[in-house]
Amino acid sequence: MAFINKILQKTKSKISDRDGSSGMSPPTERSSVYTQYIDSPTDPTPLPNSPLGGQNYGVSLGVASSSQPPMHGYPYQQQQHVSVPYKQSAPQLQKHMVPSNAAPGVQSLTSMATRAASFSAGASGSEYTAPQTLYPGQQPIQYQNTAYVQQQQPVVQPQPQPQQQQHQPQQQQQQQQWEQSVPLQTAAMQTTKQPYEDKHVHLDEFEVFRTVGTGSFGRVRLVRHKVTNKYYAMKVLKKGHVVRAKQVEHVNSERRILAECNCPFIVNMLGTCQDRINLYFFMEYVVGGELFTYLRRYHRFPPPVAKFYAAEVLLALEYMHERNIIWRDTKPENILLDDRGHVKLTDMGFAKKVVDRTWTLCGTPDYLAPEVIQAKGYGKSVDWWALGILIFEMIAGYPPFYDEDHYRLYEKILAGRIQWPAEFDPVARDLVSRLLTADLSRRLGNLHRGSADIKEHRWFAEVDWNRLAAREIPAPLIPPQKVDGDTSNFDKYPETAETYGDTTSEDPYSELFLEF
Ligand code: AMP
Repeated sequence: MAFINKILQKTKSKISDRDGSSGMSPPTERSSVYTQYIDSPTDPTPLPNSPLGGQNYGVSLGVASSSQPPMHGYPYQQQQHVSVPYKQSAPQLQKHMVPSNAAPGVQSLTSMATRAASFSAGASGSEYTAPQTLYPGQQPIQYQNTAYVQQQQPVVQPQPQPQQQQHQPQQQQQQQQWEQSVPLQTAAMQTTKQPYEDKHVHLDEFEVFRTVGTGSFGRVRLVRHKVTNKYYAMKVLKKGHVVRAKQVEHVNSERRILAECNCPFIVNMLGTCQDRINLYFFMEYVVGGELFTYLRRYHRFPPPVAKFYAAEVLLALEYMHERNIIWRDTKPENILLDDRGHVKLTDMGFAKKVVDRTWTLCGTPDYLAPEVIQAKGYGKSVDWWALGILIFEMIAGYPPFYDEDHYRLYEKILAGRIQWPAEFDPVARDLVSRLLTADLSRRLGNLHRGSADIKEHRWFAEVDWNRLAAREIPAPLIPPQKVDGDTSNFDKYPETAETYGDTTSEDPYSELFLEF
């Protein structure tokens, strides 16, 4: 496996633990890897062999990691929460779910399980008393605090459909519902439906607040529009860093893709701008934080909860694939939860319009498909592989090929051997195995019926896909939100004293980011 050695030397990539845990603990912070070989828009130069291989094709590899680790003492660590041993059995987990003195943060887990159960049953969301079995053979959860549960009444009542809409093709109906469900543009910006060329905003329209996340090339801050008082997320990328990492094409592609996507399960972009130092993306602010935070807090999700998130992510992937966009960066860190607990994918930094195949190595090691590691040339199939990893990680609490040592991680991915935790039921296991199939001619999602094969798998049998697409299925967990622009669901990051809006001297990169 010489090529694995090569990639490891070049990336020096590592999975670092935020909390210093070791052994079989799941990753608490993950880095992305990417090649500095840039996809050209048409990818005319397939690499003849693996860029990970023994030969040098001029491909260098980078590791994208958060530039600054989060500070200790995250808000959620100060909250009381259930401590569940990492590898404990499902009955123990359930016992721990509802401590009688549990704080609201903990009880949201109870709500999460119940909502998942009602989701699982395809119910309208009003059922709080008869949750379905969370694990085979287990008793339903008994609520300790029904007042809390009542507060969490269904957030959306299904809207009756006007008569004529009922006869529209499903896809057209879905698109209309999605467009109506994204009230992002402010009054000042509502003049016309903007093509992406018009998506420009001015930095001085916003007040800038704290950092809510750090990414590969910069940070994301909460901002407020001075006129409308609406909150947004402002992603700041340092141009110099982007250029040095040879990610110019990826960043321009991120802008184009964000501008094109208008899907309730993908973060909506308001606009962009730039100054001499930075590029700025202004996006809807997704208040619930990362799915990653909840998964690490609760260690793993009951299968119906995992199913809800997997199903919404699937719809987002399907939306992108219909537009020939592959995401290439599925992981719980990039899946945010909105105020109603629905999924919003963020970070289109590796997303790419691909009609046929592409060759760039990028993504997060735990989620890389074998064809990416082997640089065979790949397409949408990699997103379905990653969906399989995501489902596994949500149910098991750790990704299927997890290894602190990346050499062994890549080896395990290529070998495709999975150790199934005991609580993995046979139907979930069947779906995940079909997604984690190295043979592209057999991988679910990559066959001629595309995503329909996944949606029709027995594991998703109870999902009402139309209601899910309309976001009528209540989410299993409603993120706490005390005030508008609440940042308590995000980790705290050390702030930097940066000046935004520097136009004092000539921009050396003025030719590179013309669309911003
Ligand atoms: P990114 O660089 O796009 O991967 O973003 C880094 C982190 O910033 C994410 O993992 C989120 O925690 C946070 N973040 C990104 N976009 C948003 C958003 N639209 N709303 C709230 N937080 C966000």
